[in-house]
Amino acid sequence: MSVDRACERLGQRLQSVDPNDCRRAGFHLGDGASRWHQALLYRDFPARGDVFQPRRVLLIGGIHGDEFSSVSMVFQWMRKLEQERIQPFYWRVIPSANPDGLFANPATRENLAGVDLNRNFPSADWNQRALSYWRSRTGSDKRRFPGKSSMSEPETRWLVSQIESFKPDAIVSVHAPYGVLDYDGPLRPPERFGYLRLQPLGVYPGSLGNYAGVDRKLPVITLELPNAGSMPTAAQSQRIWSDMLNWLARNLPRERPPLYERLDDEVWLNQPRDP
Ligand SMILES: [Zn+2]
Repeated sequence: MSVDRACERLGQRLQSVDPNDCRRAGFHLGDGASRWHQALLYRDFPARGDVFQPRRVLLIGGIHGDEFSSVSMVFQWMRKLEQERIQPFYWRVIPSANPDGLFANPATRENLAGVDLNRNFPSADWNQRALSYWRSRTGSDKRRFPGKSSMSEPETRWLVSQIESFKPDAIVSVHAPYGVLDYDGPLRPPERFGYLRLQPLGVYPGSLGNYAGVDRKLPVITLELPNAGSMPTAAQSQRIWSDMLNWLARNLPRERPPLYERLDDEVWLNQPRDP
């Protein structure tokens, strides 16, 4: 599977994606692929302007394959990132985290193995709660199956490895169709981005918000667009984008924690081993 082929498929599925623009955009192939051997793509947008130690934001679309607008929205925001002259953050963008679900006919929330990737992350409560929660609280809803074990799915393992290697200071995950904003993590939640207002949707065993926000203490913003099949207007999407950038700029710590980790390592290395 190549970037070209992935872009062709994305263009076939989504009117909003021009396959030629996609091919030229500079996507990287992630190591690993989906269950159906579809490419997992990402693209980096380093900070622009006079920025020291830019804070890092991981932007993810399409964890649920049938939420088309979440992938289209991320493609639209990548066009903004291409054009902005000053950009204080280092972005890593994964526009379509569940290509099997997106390319299925009809598209599915789950991946090819029938697993809801957003219930398959290795949250601390997974082993104790994920399957019992699924049976008792969702009535064994097939669309919400968390997998037989956490990280059973290649897409989830790849997303976790992206978090490990990119070390984001915040994660933004785009969904639909609840028309709200949700937040998990250590900071005070944003109240609204554009017309999306804060409405906590709950913390689920195996969700990205639970794993990265609650367990790993990373700010995780979940944007639920109001419609899975159609996009917000250009004005609405711009408003969400600029409110989000303002919130990130105001709320993320100025210094990246990894800087401190490096300093700690140096201090540690200079300590005598046998005092
Ligand atoms: Zn979703």
